[in-house]
Amino acid sequence: MIPYGRQSISEDDIQAVVDVLRSDFLTQGPIVPKFEKKVCDYTTAKYAIAVNSGTSALHLACLALGLTKGDWFWTTPVSFVASANCGLYCGAQVDFVDIDPLTWNMSTEKLKEKLVQAKHEDRLPKVLVAVHFCGLPCDMEEIYVLSQEYGFRIIEDACHAIGGRYQDEPVGNCRYSDITVFSFHPVKTITTGEGGMAITNDKKLAEKMELLRSHGITRNPNLMTHVPDGPWYYQQIDLGFNYRMTDIQAALGNSQMYRLDDFVSKRHKIAERYRKMLADLPLHLPHSSTSKYSGFHLYVVRLLSEKVTGTHREIFDALRGKGIGVNSHYIPIHTQPFYQKMGFRCGDFPQAESYYAETISLPMYPDLTKDMQEKVVDALRELL
Ligand SMILES: *Cc1c(COP(=O)(O)O)cnc(C)c1O
Repeated sequence: MIPYGRQSISEDDIQAVVDVLRSDFLTQGPIVPKFEKKVCDYTTAKYAIAVNSGTSALHLACLALGLTKGDWFWTTPVSFVASANCGLYCGAQVDFVDIDPLTWNMSTEKLKEKLVQAKHEDRLPKVLVAVHFCGLPCDMEEIYVLSQEYGFRIIEDACHAIGGRYQDEPVGNCRYSDITVFSFHPVKTITTGEGGMAITNDKKLAEKMELLRSHGITRNPNLMTHVPDGPWYYQQIDLGFNYRMTDIQAALGNSQMYRLDDFVSKRHKIAERYRKMLADLPLHLPHSSTSKYSGFHLYVVRLLSEKVTGTHREIFDALRGKGIGVNSHYIPIHTQPFYQKMGFRCGDFPQAESYYAETISLPMYPDLTKDMQEKVVDALRELL
């Protein structure tokens, strides 16, 4: 089976991990800050907090922004459930903004309309999570302008988008957001096995996330209620978690950072080949824009249903039957039973739902060969 995504591990990556295993620190050592610095340098952001998953990074980001019970939290319905769950962890009420049928990102027009209405009803969001779906950046400048007008904070869920660019600047520079979050799960662009990171230019937000990453414990005398009892002393000044990344993971991430630009340019080559080879088929292909350089975490195509004879399910099953590990990203979050119990209904976000009925994620990862890609295209061509 050709998978839809997979990691690429080099001998250097392996050696970097082995070196940590032979060193003094498996965790809380020097490699985590080294990895954080590397990501800061790459994104040009000031602060980075490495954690044990993208989900943890989203949770810390929401907490740092003060999201709590009684607040509203908005995101897109077409994302991994973690993009919405992080708001629920904080006790906030979650709502969604439907997607744009062309870009598949949160629709900026719908966001505008929803904000006007929410202002009227006095239920404006405190935090908005903008997901750069498949790696394509959202309209961050427009969203930022709206955030100034309506007074909400912005988290970029860039779990798909490390290595991407917006207005010719790196995703993660937080020019138009408070915090950006990355995931380093093996299907993502670079990996640490499991892992994630929150990036910000705001010192206060960074300090808060750093504190909460490790139980709310500090060793900084300036933050303590009294002079330290001795050199062993620490204080717990908030309720945090153990969301730490290990040095083993950070070593892999650090080594993968050297390969990031190569990974993304390979993904673009693969996307370009798909675009040419699939151009005459009844498919809606990924959107592109001159101001946005996608991270191309995923290569999603959408069936033009009225021009296709088989059903989405039949085509999906037939591709799997031919050894092509296609997938579906994502089942709209509001249709999940857990969210339905909260009162969401099918029909609430029609663009997300019709997208879901037609979507297929094709194999996309740096080591996908031309031969494998031709096999994917041939299978699709035969079926369509
Ligand atoms: C993968 C992913 C996450 C969660 O990241 P983990 O590292 O798996 O916790 C969150 N949001 C999006 C959009 C993702 O793709």
